[in-house]
Amino acid sequence: MNFASNIVVAHRGAWKKNNLPENSIASLREAVRIGCAGSEFDVHLTADDTLIVNHDDKYAGKKIEENTYASLAETKLSNGETIPTARQYLLAGMQQHATKLVFEIKPSAISKGRGQILARKCVELVKELKAEPWVMYISFDYDIVKKVLELQPGANVAYLNGEKSPGQLKADNVPGLDYHYSVFKKKPGWVAEAKQNNVELNVWTVNSAEDMKWFIDQKFDYITTNEPELLFELLNK
Ligand code: MG
Repeated sequence: MNFASNIVVAHRGAWKKNNLPENSIASLREAVRIGCAGSEFDVHLTADDTLIVNHDDKYAGKKIEENTYASLAETKLSNGETIPTARQYLLAGMQQHATKLVFEIKPSAISKGRGQILARKCVELVKELKAEPWVMYISFDYDIVKKVLELQPGANVAYLNGEKSPGQLKADNVPGLDYHYSVFKKKPGWVAEAKQNNVELNVWTVNSAEDMKWFIDQKFDYITTNEPELLFELLNK
């Protein structure tokens, strides 16, 4: 493994500059090509228990959790790709050794229990493919975060929802946080608290140069952005 040491995480892959579909394998490959330390993607569970990569809980007007993979896959992405499964996405990402795969496990809209099933299936897939070295998990659902840590002790996992202090995360053995940038503007003390507790710091979704500079100055471990090219430009100045 030779993972990149920069702080750039492409949010849903690097899609914007080249007008690629978000969360496509093409956007993952572009994030790899430009040298991002991480490329983020979102995972849901279909009605027939396939893990698929999409941001919203609907795809092509259909609720993912209430439709089969075959039905969802009838509609192609705008670049002609079939909507990727998490398996296909991880296998594509594992063809390289520089960019980590930032795997967001989406909460279930049906029930907490289905979210736990989803978390289990995600961890089982990562283990089956031996993708552990690439994967950084993130989730808004704290029970999913805890489930991942139970199933894969020592996993790199960060919590997204923003209401828990770094000290609380440390107490629960959650190794990272990845909060909306407004959280750190309201609670700037959490940056130092995270560093004191060795809680890894990531932030979403930082798209302006001004905000990027603030998080660069605060020495964040990662910055998640729709504008990875701009962030590289600032870092290389
Ligand atoms: Mg996401």
